Amino acid sequence: MSLLMSIWSRVKTATERRLFSEYGAVFTTSAVPPPVIVFKDAAEVDAFQSTLSTRAARIGEHQITLQDPAMNALLEAGARAKQEGSSLSARASDSGARGYDDTVRLWIRNINRGLEHWGERGRLSAPEADAVRGLDPADQVPVILGLEDERSLFFGTYFDRSILSSVAAPGASQHLSLLAFDVMEYQDSRIEQLLNSCGWYRTVQNDLPHFTYLGHSAEKLKGLGLKKVQRDYGETTYAFWIPEIS
Ligand SMILES: [Zn+2]
Repeated sequence: MSLLMSIWSRVKTATERRLFSEYGAVFTTSAVPPPVIVFKDAAEVDAFQSTLSTRAARIGEHQITLQDPAMNALLEAGARAKQEGSSLSARASDSGARGYDDTVRLWIRNINRGLEHWGERGRLSAPEADAVRGLDPADQVPVILGLEDERSLFFGTYFDRSILSSVAAPGASQHLSLLAFDVMEYQDSRIEQLLNSCGWYRTVQNDLPHFTYLGHSAEKLKGLGLKKVQRDYGETTYAFWIPEIS
């Protein structure tokens, strides 16, 4: 049984199953994987992050912190890009490490936009929207996923896809494990190849700039319980490595 299947067999709640199927590739990393599928609060994230060996570096315009081997591999990809006359840079200051509160802030931003959007269109009543707002962010997760699954009220950035393809649930982001990086030049297929050759892969469907440090060659990923899915965005096909779960 692959590592991923053994974690999968122990997952209890429907929300955790969903989050694992979206973000679970991170558990195959050769660096230090997160101890849980969802961190429950800032203290739990801080305690985990304090055990990690990290390295900070300037990647393009921004100072980025990652787990040591993840940063070393990223710098290697960047050095090869530079030799070829291109560049590899961070999209924003939060492209690498994040804290629990960052994931909550990003989540709430999308929730509020979605509540407003669906309210204006008469698809969600004011009392329903208020009830969602009144919940703790972590408790909003199953409710929002239910609205998406049962009523097609999507909370992704363009309201056409799940919120999970735009922002991670509070405490579930791979950025909390210091193993994710959002790359500015994500549309450049050569940059994708260089990242792949250094152990960085797309692992979250529809999140095109987001790469995850797995630290393995592509040939090894299947044996670790991942499958490759390809999706077209405009003229371009992008590949994602996601958990193979039955
Ligand atoms: Zn990301």
